[in-house]
Amino acid sequence: MSVIDDLRRIREEAQGAIDVAQDESALETLRVRYLGKKGSLALALRGMGQVPPSERPLVGQAVNEARDQVEALLAAAKSRLARAALEAELESTPLDVTLPGRRTALGHRHPLTRTLEDIVAIFQRLGFGVLEGPLIELDFYNFEALNFPKDHPARDMQDTFFVEPESLGALRGRQDVLLRTHTSPVQVRAMLSRRPPLRLIMPGTTFRCDSDPTHSPMFHQVEGLYVDQGVSFADLKGTLDAYAKAMFGDRPTRFRPSYFPFVEPGAEMDMACGVCGGSGQLPGGEPCRTCKASGWVEVMGAGMVHPNVFRACQVDAEKFTGFAFGFGVERIAMNRYGIDDLRLLFENDVRFLEQF
Ligand SMILES: [Zn+2]
Repeated sequence: MSVIDDLRRIREEAQGAIDVAQDESALETLRVRYLGKKGSLALALRGMGQVPPSERPLVGQAVNEARDQVEALLAAAKSRLARAALEAELESTPLDVTLPGRRTALGHRHPLTRTLEDIVAIFQRLGFGVLEGPLIELDFYNFEALNFPKDHPARDMQDTFFVEPESLGALRGRQDVLLRTHTSPVQVRAMLSRRPPLRLIMPGTTFRCDSDPTHSPMFHQVEGLYVDQGVSFADLKGTLDAYAKAMFGDRPTRFRPSYFPFVEPGAEMDMACGVCGGSGQLPGGEPCRTCKASGWVEVMGAGMVHPNVFRACQVDAEKFTGFAFGFGVERIAMNRYGIDDLRLLFENDVRFLEQF
């Protein structure tokens, strides 16, 4: 049984060598020496030729056991060395477990998004649904159906980006394609596609050819529309006053006559200035700059839907009445967060946005 004796000798020798190995490369050398293709166990197997056939299963089993044992010794030595290395490292670099951890920076919603969500939530509580529409519009929806006839001077109130639709499929070559200047075309689409009663707000992006500290070529509006039988100016005032108080706090509101082509009568809603409390004066006696000493700040434009708009939108103006309103979201966010330059909202500088 010289092969069995060889195996025992090889295993004992391997155990002695593995016990004193100092690092992983020494272990690797030992692995090759004992388990490799030309290693000790492989050489011992060559002796199988001299083993009588009846004993070969026994010898084969002994070879397998020897290999398993050497592999287990190597694995144990490897984890012993790794543990020792970790302990050495911990001892050489002192660890202060009282240091604050590294926090993962969490993002948050943009101040405009938060403002818009608050506005939408208030109108939803008042029973309004939310409707969106296309950003690229036809003149009919943006102007004509809203009682802005072609060449009407009211169109000058809205500096419009016209689009040359080279790549807009069916719109190619048309002269009446534009970026919507307000979200009102969604009102037109709503009236043409649904039957009253309609109680909807239309939040969204709008575009005008404007750029300075208080105007951006791209900005956001919320418009609203309420059409039903017997809707009156009192409903307009009650609804908008409820919105303003929910959004800005319990402050007096007032309505002034104003002009928009798509409403008659038209009005501007003001609210008592939140900075001076409506007095127009600061505590020190100097005039309030926020409201230009008037005591009032503009909140939105509104009015009763013009019969011409109803006609263009195929709503029976004899049977139905309605009111519409609209305002910009940026101005509200600027007032709310004390931002004095609208462009900051779109530069997406994280150092700025992190403050809110
Ligand atoms: Zn004021």
